[in-house]
Amino acid sequence: MGKLSIDHLEMQGKNVLVRVDFNVPLDENQNVRDDFRIRAALPTIQKIIRDGGRAILCSHLGRPKGKPVATMSLKPVAEKLAQLLGKPVNFTTDCIGPKVSQLKKSLQDGDVMLLENLRFYAEEEANDPDFARSLAENCQLYVNDAFGSAHRAHASTEGVTKYFRKSAAGYLMEKELKYLGDTLEKPERPFVTILGGAKISGKIDVISHLQNKADYLLIGGGMIFTFYKAQGKEIGKSLLEEDRLEMAKDILQNFQSSRCKLVLPEDVLITDKVESGARTQVVDVDDIPAEGIGVDIGPKTIDTFSGILKNSRAIVWTGPMGVFEIPEFAKGTENVARLLADLTAQGVTTVVGGGDSAAAVKKFKLTDQLSHVSTGGGASLEFLEGKLLPGVAALTDA
Ligand code: AMP
Repeated sequence: MGKLSIDHLEMQGKNVLVRVDFNVPLDENQNVRDDFRIRAALPTIQKIIRDGGRAILCSHLGRPKGKPVATMSLKPVAEKLAQLLGKPVNFTTDCIGPKVSQLKKSLQDGDVMLLENLRFYAEEEANDPDFARSLAENCQLYVNDAFGSAHRAHASTEGVTKYFRKSAAGYLMEKELKYLGDTLEKPERPFVTILGGAKISGKIDVISHLQNKADYLLIGGGMIFTFYKAQGKEIGKSLLEEDRLEMAKDILQNFQSSRCKLVLPEDVLITDKVESGARTQVVDVDDIPAEGIGVDIGPKTIDTFSGILKNSRAIVWTGPMGVFEIPEFAKGTENVARLLADLTAQGVTTVVGGGDSAAAVKKFKLTDQLSHVSTGGGASLEFLEGKLLPGVAALTDA
């Protein structure tokens, strides 16, 4: 079911509590190193200002473990946000309590306030009802724009909604739900999914869910070697999850009678050391030498994957094809990313599900050339597992 949109709230003269994801990296001088997440929340904040509401923003930053930690203050974020909005942002040195409550009351229409780091209180992650009530105090509406935190039932994402008659999705949240949700639920076909990353563990539910939805599942990354081992192949010193061999066998067996076609690489790039400048060689997956370490998909595989992708209408990708952090091992990941950008220009829907693949796409400066790159790592993975996210479920139905 769809969720209430910020577009359907009457915000004039109201205090709107907004859960944003301002968990941004700070440098050693406490300056914001990357403002991507702050920029991503601007459309929602600007909408509240335009409508004459008062935006009261709350977020976590880092893992302060329930205590105030000076290096994890949101103050630098307030300064950056003020720059980006071109107007002052009232920063409060606490996120709950009588003083904050009073300050909320003194806001004027169009004002913006940012509360201090929610995780300075252990009650936030414990989803404590009293803490949630204090957050909601003197606010009349709630908006969640923090997709990246929606997979956790915390006070600011789930508990707080019990104190509001209307809880709506902000624009960023809506975009995430539209692209991840719609692409999985009613994809144009052929619908191709690409899965990579280091390990099978943690991805098994993603594999089963995608198998039920997609026409193809292309697999790259470190996890392929556990599959090859399960098939009895020599994998040299490549990444192996011994304890997942049975699981890998089951998955391979399962796909034999599946409508979704599983495609594993036919060749790989191997090296003798996982470092820049090391010797590399392309080999067929049946010819991996005993000393070889597989670090990327090979050129034949890139061609095969490209052929399937070029015939698709919708693509969801999560997890890099190789150790993309090292330039010599990044070709597979870069080729997939570039092809997805070209296909997007031709009208194919392309969605990248957070985490390392989002980092890879960013590294190749292609983020703006895909239909959607998710801002949520863990949240997008849970979405791809088919789970209902508590922070989404708690919003008012449309
Ligand atoms: P994940 O968090 O499971 O999505 O894994 C992402 C990580 O997988 C990245 O840091 C990649 O360097 C790593 N990775 C990708 N391919 C391989 C490989 N063949 N061997 C080892 N690690 C890999």
